[in-house]
Amino acid sequence: MVLQLEPLHTCNLSCTGCGRIREYSTSLKSMMSLQDCLDSANECGAPMVSVCGGEPLIYPQIEELVDGLLKQGRIVYICTNGLLMRRKLRDYMASEYTPAMETKISELFKEGLINENDAQEIRQKKQTGKPAIKPSKWLYWNVHVDGLEKTHDMVVERKGVFKESVAAIKMAKRLGFQVATNTTVYKQTDMNEIEDMFKFFSWLGVDGHTISPGYDYDAAKKDMVQRLGVSPDEFFLTKKEVIQKFSNILDWGKKYTIFGTPVYQEFLAGKRDLTCTAWAIPTRNVVGWKSPCYLITDAHYKTYKEMLEKTDWDKYGVVNGVVCDPRCENCMVHCGYDPSGALGTNYKCGDTLKNIIYNFSPRPKPAAEGAKVNAFNGDNLKNQESKNTEKLTLQTNKKV
Ligand code: SF4
Ligand code: SF4
Repeated sequence: MVLQLEPLHTCNLSCTGCGRIREYSTSLKSMMSLQDCLDSANECGAPMVSVCGGEPLIYPQIEELVDGLLKQGRIVYICTNGLLMRRKLRDYMASEYTPAMETKISELFKEGLINENDAQEIRQKKQTGKPAIKPSKWLYWNVHVDGLEKTHDMVVERKGVFKESVAAIKMAKRLGFQVATNTTVYKQTDMNEIEDMFKFFSWLGVDGHTISPGYDYDAAKKDMVQRLGVSPDEFFLTKKEVIQKFSNILDWGKKYTIFGTPVYQEFLAGKRDLTCTAWAIPTRNVVGWKSPCYLITDAHYKTYKEMLEKTDWDKYGVVNGVVCDPRCENCMVHCGYDPSGALGTNYKCGDTLKNIIYNFSPRPKPAAEGAKVNAFNGDNLKNQESKNTEKLTLQTNKKV
């Protein structure tokens, strides 16, 4: 259903809890070739490709990759931390510049989304020879935000990231792009804040949200202990805690555009069981096709077919309450279970209709209350130099 394509694992951030940059720390300089990326999408045939990483906007041929995937007829999500997004948006403006764009330039300038130098660069209409990333109904920017300013900047371990992401989202919306947000919930995540975050981004015109509980990658757990001196138990959720945190998700699905299926939302809210279908959201990266899933790495295979055939799927997941692999015990993440909701595993009468109504009914209107949300609440966050004492206060100060 969705290919998670990781053309590279290099990133310009080092977020707490990120398994990717840690698990693949020895291959951070490697990249998939453009052809390999496009062939992988063709090979598995998923209608949707989520281009992630690392930070995919660092990939030197990101424009060609997005263009190639759109030409293959796929829906493309660019999963970004937002730091390089405004640069790509300016490249798009430069590629399309005519004097008629001056009104838009002036609007963006007044909002502080571009400066005078940016405006000049856009006007110069530099010919890069690259196909710019342009608005399309098949394309979404999918921006990583784990809360409002204070929380998000703590999780990504850098001040200013939230502000930059909001600026990028606003600019993308002004230019006619579709934008989604993508949020991971951890143990200390305040779900009232997450609801405020939805209100805020809905008010900004964001088109939808993905939300999923965090998964305790081995590599991320080791990093927490070694680098931060924090117990992973204080950061990652057990299944019971996931259900508590997501108890309002069905209501949120009525008020905000939460991407996915209501069946998966019922699973997150503890109202039903699902069986993992990780094979429906495969991951392809610099090493190969990751098996069995986006989270666990027991092997990499050269082809999707080989990964499907050689992975012993019965060894993974939780089936009828029986934990097949201890690493799956607390997993309720969307890449394992959202497809289960769509594919009809553990089917209950009415599920298909429910999914169709949810996804094809008119989307909820932008939340006007978002205007009142104190999104930029990070002023008290101390400078980066003090991050070692500050950054994990959203979890706990307990040391291992
Ligand atoms: S931005 Fe994404 S890939 Fe980069 S460190 Fe953060 S979570 Fe990992
Ligand atoms: S239950 Fe989660 S961790 Fe286990 S195979 Fe499925 S997606 Fe992966």
